[in-house]
Amino acid sequence: MSQVVKYVAECWSWGNRVFRQPWRPDWPVIILRLEQFATLVGLVAVIMTTGGDSLVRSAGKPGVHFPAAPTPPGQYLEAVKQPVMTISPVVPAVAKGETAFTPGDQLGGWGSSPPGAAPPRQDLQPLRQVAGAGHRVAITFDDGPSPGWTDRYLKVLAAMGTRATFFMVGSQAVAHPDLVKAVLAGNNEVASHSWRHANLGKVSREAAREDLSQAASALAAITGQKVKYFRPPYGAMGPNLLAAAGDVGEKTVTWSVDPRDWSNPGPQAIIQRVMANVRDGSIILLHEAHPGTLVALPILIKELRDRGYEIVTVSELIAAGKIP
Ligand SMILES: [Zn+2]
Repeated sequence: MSQVVKYVAECWSWGNRVFRQPWRPDWPVIILRLEQFATLVGLVAVIMTTGGDSLVRSAGKPGVHFPAAPTPPGQYLEAVKQPVMTISPVVPAVAKGETAFTPGDQLGGWGSSPPGAAPPRQDLQPLRQVAGAGHRVAITFDDGPSPGWTDRYLKVLAAMGTRATFFMVGSQAVAHPDLVKAVLAGNNEVASHSWRHANLGKVSREAAREDLSQAASALAAITGQKVKYFRPPYGAMGPNLLAAAGDVGEKTVTWSVDPRDWSNPGPQAIIQRVMANVRDGSIILLHEAHPGTLVALPILIKELRDRGYEIVTVSELIAAGKIP
């Protein structure tokens, strides 16, 4: 404990030395005292969370020791109890190679696993794009169905003779089942965007599973088909959510091209951003209920075709990726 006292004294004198440097001589003394007080509070927090162990270890080394960003007790304990699982951030396709896409990463990769068995981790990783799909891309729309909007998107798709995948919010689908059926009637694909569009990135596996199950049941009741794909609201993912998607038999699908159309950058920007980043096998993220997106859509479809891309659904893109 004497080392701890020595450390406190060291911090105190360090604070005095640093904050009395001539480059900030005009700072009021009260701010200096508050900073020193904050230092001591951080110190106490470290002692409380670690029992002083880390402090004693660092105090044994020469030089000035200052605890870097003391961890609050709760977070510290969580970090100790739970192994950390790193989820790859979603990165735009630009300047990145395509994600390896192996058969095991596709549909039904763990469908034959016995109940309760943990699926292989690679099967839980989100699918951003599909390598080996040839000159094919998938256009996807999130956040629908949206009254007054879904129909207009469908008209453009039909007029252009193409199809898309709609990641739908379950509760909205229940409120507007006719729109869901209209999407299907146009040979488009319906997928899940959770039940109520909550941020599921940090919830428990059980809570995530409950949300996804509710969305899956609602969509299946309307479409008569089992939902195969799930896209996390806000792109927020954690190991619990990815595991829950596996639990309900859905493959997590994100995107590789994101023109951020939700921020209303204007049709021209949406088109330019997509065309600058699109690659073979790209999954393009767009949203319903945005006028700029609706205006951009026919031009975007034409430009993609002019560049030689075939526009397919997510299912078709994945199926194409299986071709050797
Ligand atoms: Zn969304």
